[in-house]
Amino acid sequence: MKTQEIIQTVDDNYMPVFARYGIVLSHGEGPYVYDNDGKKYLDFLAGIAVNVLGHGHPALVAAISQQAGKLIHCSNLYYTEVQAKLVESLAKVSGMGKVFMANSGAEANEGAIKLARKYAKKINPNKIEIISAQHCFHGRTLATLTATAQPKYQKGYEPLPGGFSYVPFNDIEALKGAITEKTCAILLEPIQGEGGINMPDETYLKQVRQLCDEKEILLILDEIQTGMGRTGTMFAYEQYGIVPDIVTLAKGLGGGVPIGAFIASDKVASVFTSGDHGSTFGGNPLACAAANAVLLAIEEEGLLANAKELGNYFEKGLLVLQAKYPKLITQVRGKGLMLGAQLTLPGRDIVNTCLTKGVIINCTAGDVLRFVPPLNIERAHVDEVLAVLDAVLAEL
Ligand SMILES: *Cc1c(COP(=O)(O)O)cnc(C)c1O
Repeated sequence: MKTQEIIQTVDDNYMPVFARYGIVLSHGEGPYVYDNDGKKYLDFLAGIAVNVLGHGHPALVAAISQQAGKLIHCSNLYYTEVQAKLVESLAKVSGMGKVFMANSGAEANEGAIKLARKYAKKINPNKIEIISAQHCFHGRTLATLTATAQPKYQKGYEPLPGGFSYVPFNDIEALKGAITEKTCAILLEPIQGEGGINMPDETYLKQVRQLCDEKEILLILDEIQTGMGRTGTMFAYEQYGIVPDIVTLAKGLGGGVPIGAFIASDKVASVFTSGDHGSTFGGNPLACAAANAVLLAIEEEGLLANAKELGNYFEKGLLVLQAKYPKLITQVRGKGLMLGAQLTLPGRDIVNTCLTKGVIINCTAGDVLRFVPPLNIERAHVDEVLAVLDAVLAEL
């Protein structure tokens, strides 16, 4: 199909919920993707922090192809070796107890909320409330969009499920003030992604952890965007010196194959018994094979170290741009290969101009340029993005 025909067909038939860019992507290789007309783009969005190995990674492609030839799906009524390997790896890398496999981020968070409520009710049947942070993002299902403390995601879908409240992010006093005997769990992204790459103070998460321990409240960390090595460690919480009670994963976990997971301590997970939760597709052999390949590649290719090193290199380059264009960029923030540049103007035009120059980035929260490239990029790729950004900013 011709480019315009594809766009028209999608627009005619897909529910109009996405503000799409007018290009049609066809295939990719490494950190590059190509459109339907053969134009090449350097992909520093990576499907929004999903394609952690870039595109067409040979080991990931082989793992999926081989598994597809063996067994694409089977019910969780049966055991598979690929699932055994994955849940063992996830329990090991998280340092936590037990895993449940889902199919997306929102679903992982839903499961985490259900588990937290079930656990807290054993302490006190009134302990049902989930506190989340303003500007967070936890998904689009009814419960997770309610946890997502942003009216723009909630409007029109009322009545929203009860038992959710919000505090400003990174404000320990506000959190202390919001806790009641009904509080069941605190749900936070260690670094807020969609909300604008918002960083916690170094001590904030430790203080939250302490507060949770004192008040018998569960700490749920949503590492759907920050996890899988994005910030330079497998989980961002490692860098803040804490372990949550429940952590959720999705985005990078399958390297592009839809998957999600929540992992809990043995103590918390033990309240789930047969029939308490479930999923037809969750933990499906194809998705597990993809996640196993991603975890292996992260280890074998040293991608945690690469995310840290290239993240530092990229951040330095962005700081040079900030120094050069102080009226346009006021702050550079993030960790590893999860970086943001705070602008003084809406970022949409910059993103569009970058696109015409062959670089895919994204703008979140209206005025924050977000960079979440594959974890296996090289310095030359960072240099390429910085050069294009420099040229785009120079024109403003
Ligand atoms: C993307 C994202 C989600 C939602 O994931 P879906 O797979 O789109 O449901 C939840 N939390 C965070 C932090 C995310 O970045």
